[in-house]
Amino acid sequence: MRLNEYIKNNREIMLKKGIFNPLSFVAKLISKIKKIEFSKIILDRDFEIDDKLLLLLNKIIIEDYPVEYITKSAEFMDFELYVDENVLIPRIETEDLVKIAMKIIEKNKYKNILDLGTGSGAIAIALKKSFPEINIYASDISEKALKVAKKNADKINVKIEFFESDIFYNIPEEVLKKVDFIVSNPPYVEEKFYINSNSLKYEPENALVAGKDGQDFFLRLSNEFPDLLFEKHYLFETTEFNIEKTKEILSEFGIIKIYRDSFEINRFVEKLKK
Ligand code: GLN
Repeated sequence: MRLNEYIKNNREIMLKKGIFNPLSFVAKLISKIKKIEFSKIILDRDFEIDDKLLLLLNKIIIEDYPVEYITKSAEFMDFELYVDENVLIPRIETEDLVKIAMKIIEKNKYKNILDLGTGSGAIAIALKKSFPEINIYASDISEKALKVAKKNADKINVKIEFFESDIFYNIPEEVLKKVDFIVSNPPYVEEKFYINSNSLKYEPENALVAGKDGQDFFLRLSNEFPDLLFEKHYLFETTEFNIEKTKEILSEFGIIKIYRDSFEINRFVEKLKK
């Protein structure tokens, strides 16, 4: 099938999904999948879409399958991460989280930092790239996610110490003692939101969903590790719909500061040391 025919056949469905420039959108997808220059595709409306490519385009456009899992690659800050279905695809908001974390690290001259629930390793790698002299630790409950994170750290050539751990349970005591700042993009999606979303279903559920109001992770942290929550400085990404609840849970453990993401949405909660 030719590109312009594909666009014609799928224009309506794309417009319905909020894709207002279907040609540019599809050309970008083809460019990513086939590693062909975007300009070459967009200038050639007779570009031939073979059957394999057709299946992939339909999977992305009709079934909302993330293109990043097809290309096995996602951009984050100024680098490229390997991603597969075992890890969340890093979001732009998480780049904002990293930028705020960097300011906090610089201001406090922190030397030992933990990325709790690292997934693809995005946050930990970004921090280590910016501050090569500080120690970065990263943990995840998922063995498969950690494999991806390690692969990324190797690929990007940064040294990070990884732990397979549910919250802090399996992180060595001496590491927990040293750590002065904890950054985390934990699961925080509300169950209902998750069930109604077409695109989230391909990503690991345990990296996303956190109960009815998205607070399960924060509640577990406060119930199971109250001392560590008191003692340490934290920066969390959380849900725009229930950030007030996150604030309420964490405010028992220290002073709270809220930050907006680049869409001007209240999204991040900083909890200062006791
Ligand atoms: N920001 C992601 C989303 O809403 C969720 C990330 C998370 O749960 N940590 O798609």
